[in-house]
Amino acid sequence: MLILRLNKAGMPQDWIHPEQAARLYCQDKVLFELGHDSRLLRGGHNRLGIQSTLRLASIIACDGKVTDLSGKVALTNRYLFRRDNDICLYCGQRFSPRVLTRDHIIPRSRGGKNIWTNVATACRRCNHAKAARTPEEAGMPLLAVPFRPNVYERFYLMNRRILADQMSFLASHFSHQRDWQVQD
Ligand SMILES: [Zn+2]
Repeated sequence: MLILRLNKAGMPQDWIHPEQAARLYCQDKVLFELGHDSRLLRGGHNRLGIQSTLRLASIIACDGKVTDLSGKVALTNRYLFRRDNDICLYCGQRFSPRVLTRDHIIPRSRGGKNIWTNVATACRRCNHAKAARTPEEAGMPLLAVPFRPNVYERFYLMNRRILADQMSFLASHFSHQRDWQVQD
């Protein structure tokens, strides 16, 4: 389980391990908690044989530097395929990420840029069939509008094991309607 760390304004900052979260609790840096899920971390035993425990919330907000991450969503294939739910945006079939490709909607050879709004997840077959054409020219309309993830969508893309309450927190700030779902 990873814990979602927010800044004091409630903006996601990082996914952290329980041990890192425990350190923040011990340093008294946790300002508030969100979510219903929690995890009990067990520590050492004292002289009387009593073990120390610490309950960690799944979402914690901490004081400190406020980083605006909204403009920094790296365009990687891993994030792109997850944005599109591992679905080819031309034929609508779901594939293993291993066999998916990045399609430039307006082809690179025609001046199309390598940016979030000009890329789509495509299976090899569709990518090959479309070739150096636009979707209109190829008669292959896109099944969804490609978008640039906002900061909450970015944190969804980063972690494949999101707890239900973390998911509902992130999803309440998504700016694009899509079949977002928690995946194993
Ligand atoms: Zn396809």
